[in-house]
Amino acid sequence: MSLAAETVLELDLGALQHNYRFLRSKLAPACRMLAVVKANGYGGDATTIALELQELGVDYLAVAYVSEGAFLRDAGVTLPILVLHPQPANFELMVSKCLEPSIYSERLLNLFTQFAQAQKLVAYPVHLKVNTGLNRLGFDPAETVLAATAIQKEDALSLRSAFTHLAASEDSAEKEFTLKQLSAFDAILPALRQKGDDKFFAHATNTSGIINYPQAHYDLVRTGIGLYGYANEASLDKQLKPVMRLKTVISQLHQLKQGESVGYNRGHVAKDAMTIATLPVGHADGLPRALGKSVGSVILNGKHAPIVGNVCMDMIMVDVTGIACQEGDSVEVFGEQQSAEELAKKAGTISYELLTAVGGRIKRVVLR
Ligand SMILES: *Cc1c(COP(=O)(O)O)cnc(C)c1O
Repeated sequence: MSLAAETVLELDLGALQHNYRFLRSKLAPACRMLAVVKANGYGGDATTIALELQELGVDYLAVAYVSEGAFLRDAGVTLPILVLHPQPANFELMVSKCLEPSIYSERLLNLFTQFAQAQKLVAYPVHLKVNTGLNRLGFDPAETVLAATAIQKEDALSLRSAFTHLAASEDSAEKEFTLKQLSAFDAILPALRQKGDDKFFAHATNTSGIINYPQAHYDLVRTGIGLYGYANEASLDKQLKPVMRLKTVISQLHQLKQGESVGYNRGHVAKDAMTIATLPVGHADGLPRALGKSVGSVILNGKHAPIVGNVCMDMIMVDVTGIACQEGDSVEVFGEQQSAEELAKKAGTISYELLTAVGGRIKRVVLR
């Protein structure tokens, strides 16, 4: 365990490489990999992670918004970047940064076609999103074929890929539903391939889909959470390594007598004499307030120290009674000894939300 002198989010690039290789090993040699680095690389640091993945040989990147892709371009990322959820207001920035839109609706297709014509673009690569049951973004299957025809006829545009997104790839109880999604995609894929350009590819699976639906890897898989070390399944999580580790430090120790209280609203009252440690991390840093009142804990010298009382904006107090420690000692909030998934569960949420919530004011420390 490294010694942090303040609250830091460690980014372990060795773990990223390990996860990348593990996920690659699940793919046929010709299958390509897109890395999802939206939401600042799942809360880590999009630039550091994208540049490392580019070095490792990832084939494609995806972000949610145009601004995220522009940020990566400005940082020197040269890989093709798919924008999953572009808006017409950002077309100019998108094209100036060579970002490739997911076209998910007729309105977006019409507006982007007009824009591309006005800008005199030639064969600008676009990706068609098919809604097969998630009911979030995308054309219905039949509409997708019409949209593909329109794109094929339009000189300004070029159909680079078609894709769908699975609603429950991690959930074996929903296998039937998932297979229905895949067969809806399969039904239109030949028509889409025929209208695609010579680099056309099809894709459907996210991390859990890679593992649970190997028959649906198509030409490329999209992986996010797996690269960061989680796979929505305990046995698989063991084979992955957490890239992000949130570490903090003991600012101060207090000895409390029986009946004394801790924090706002006297959230905890000492039943007996106790020792508490104050740590510089709070709900403004993404630590859920739901983890207060002894619901969550942190790891201190190998032991769980429960969070006592209410989580403050910038601090928590933890019960260290009986744990040998002193001011300045390093503390793990999540990472190797307590996974983000375990801590998230206690807060009633998922690793994705806990990771992406890590606040911008926390320093990122890159470990190679
Ligand atoms: C976020 C996202 C992914 C990545 O999903 P993981 O579960 O993190 O692997 C893939 N595809 C789309 C469309 C997404 O929005």
